[in-house]
Amino acid sequence: MKSLRCLCLLLFTLISMTELSAADTAKTFRAGAFAQDITPKKLPISVNGNMRDTLATKVHDPLHARCLVLDDGRMKLAIAVCDSCMIPREIMDAAKQRATKATGIPENHILISATHTHEAPTVGGVFQSDPDPDYVQQLTEQIAEGITKAHALRQPAKIGWGVGKNSEQVFNRRWFREADKIPADPFDGKTDQVQMNPGYQSPGLIKPAGPIDPDVTVIAVQSLGGKPLAILANYSLHYVGGVEPLSADYFGAFAERIAQLVGAGAGAEKVDPAFVGIMSNGTSGDCNNINFGKEPPPKSQPYERIKLVADSVAQTAFAAYTSIKYHDWVPLAMAEREIELGVRRPSEAEIVRAKEIVAQAKQPILQGLKEVYARETILMANYPPTVKARLQAIRIGELAILSSPCETFAEIGLDLKRRSPFPTTCTIELANGYNGYLPTPEQHKLGGYETWRARSSYVEVDSSPKIVKTLLELLTEVRK
Ligand SMILES: [Zn+2]
Repeated sequence: MKSLRCLCLLLFTLISMTELSAADTAKTFRAGAFAQDITPKKLPISVNGNMRDTLATKVHDPLHARCLVLDDGRMKLAIAVCDSCMIPREIMDAAKQRATKATGIPENHILISATHTHEAPTVGGVFQSDPDPDYVQQLTEQIAEGITKAHALRQPAKIGWGVGKNSEQVFNRRWFREADKIPADPFDGKTDQVQMNPGYQSPGLIKPAGPIDPDVTVIAVQSLGGKPLAILANYSLHYVGGVEPLSADYFGAFAERIAQLVGAGAGAEKVDPAFVGIMSNGTSGDCNNINFGKEPPPKSQPYERIKLVADSVAQTAFAAYTSIKYHDWVPLAMAEREIELGVRRPSEAEIVRAKEIVAQAKQPILQGLKEVYARETILMANYPPTVKARLQAIRIGELAILSSPCETFAEIGLDLKRRSPFPTTCTIELANGYNGYLPTPEQHKLGGYETWRARSSYVEVDSSPKIVKTLLELLTEVRK
């Protein structure tokens, strides 16, 4: 009897010890980051982002998929921010499948987004640009490779976050303007009340049609010894431009500048693994770097403006970074849901009209908005009545990240931040797919470029309330 009791005690002790070590492992927070080069292997290559295609013949600065893997000992998640204008869902899904195979991180614990640089190869067909299948394959493989390398580089780490404000570099680009000064839309309509990019101090300008989000959110990861490993930043700025492709735009320049500011940049003592700076795009569907209410700034050299903006935003990020409180361990959670959104399909009459316009156009390069949008109408003739949109919420301790697969308007991001139960929330757009612009129903009524039906703007007018509702539900799920 006594020996049996001893055995029980021994077993109990052994079980407790096992539990203790499992709990210990669970309390180790790990992080790994890697910047995977995704510059195309061959040139020239199509570049999208404009009404006409551009051919890139050189590399101004390299493109990257900047990857961060976090691991709280209970679950792992990965974020990959890619220097691309927009990435269709099929590519992201294929990259996730590969990454899952290599790392075991479930597909629904991976967020992939595009920065929205307008100086990167086309991977989704928009306006007059079409993807290069070889680059699509390369990008798919390299996103997965980046996540796999970040996963392999995980080390015990601490994490913290902070938010700075920068209202100097972001402006709402949609302006109310006197009706007779607003040009007709591409469908010959005269109902637009707002105009995108109306020109500096143009006659009849009234005021911007929406707000900006000035937040510069900073999530920082350090080794236990205090060495900076990665910074994932978030700012709601469309892009800067003013440079010949290929270029990562200010997103790449920010990554370099923030590395210098935290003492991990070029010239710093070689660190292994290398520090990874990441700038993700917030909700910038209607916000860019141009203040149309003022005189134009003095003409700058190519890339000069990008560097200036990157420096300004990096200084804001660095100021927030210096007051971050680090946690040795925080809980991670991630929730994902797919919702159906209606499609603004063209009517029969609109398709007939569009075919007439294209038939009369000089080929192969279409001129002007009317012709370009007529072709878009024809290409949308067979769109399904609904499309699926994938939404995600991530919890990192008391910070939340929300994602949308659209060029989301700033006021939607602000609304989500206001209504979030988390003290700090940021949003990553153009994530996990590409479903075009996302104006609010009120902004749809005002018209303007972002509302004109094309492959770059096609989800139903009521999409943003549906997306906001679902994202708030996902926040409740990850908060549990
Ligand atoms: Zn855009």
